[in-house]
Amino acid sequence: MDHLPNMRLTTQRQIILEELAKVTSHPTANEVYDMVRKRLPRIGLGTVYRNLDLMADSGVILKIEVGGTQKRFDATIYPHYHIRCTACGKVDDIDIPVQLHINSAAAAASCYEILGHHIEFSGICRDCQQKKQSSVN
Ligand SMILES: [Zn+2]
Ligand SMILES: [Zn+2]
Repeated sequence: MDHLPNMRLTTQRQIILEELAKVTSHPTANEVYDMVRKRLPRIGLGTVYRNLDLMADSGVILKIEVGGTQKRFDATIYPHYHIRCTACGKVDDIDIPVQLHINSAAAAASCYEILGHHIEFSGICRDCQQKKQSSVN
């Protein structure tokens, strides 16, 4: 992947980054747009999309593609795992150590130089568990 050297953060990108860093919900581009629009009322959805992609390509933010759903964005860029609720689709961070031994195992089992891996857990979030229980009772 090509990295843009020393990507300059325009005011728009700075605000996108600030808004993204405020939440842990891994918002979609549309959700980021709704947050950013409160501060930049004239910004367009296309501009937000384009900036998010550029920022993800240059490593300023993380783009996560989970479960074939919409792309989501994350201001947390150090390696970490995600869990997706199969009922409501929300995505949370899962705070367990990154399993580096998987990389060595994959390297040993292939002739690839391993750059990394992605693990996405799936489950039912607490809200959805409670909803399920209250609909049963
Ligand atoms: Zn849920
Ligand atoms: Zn995350």
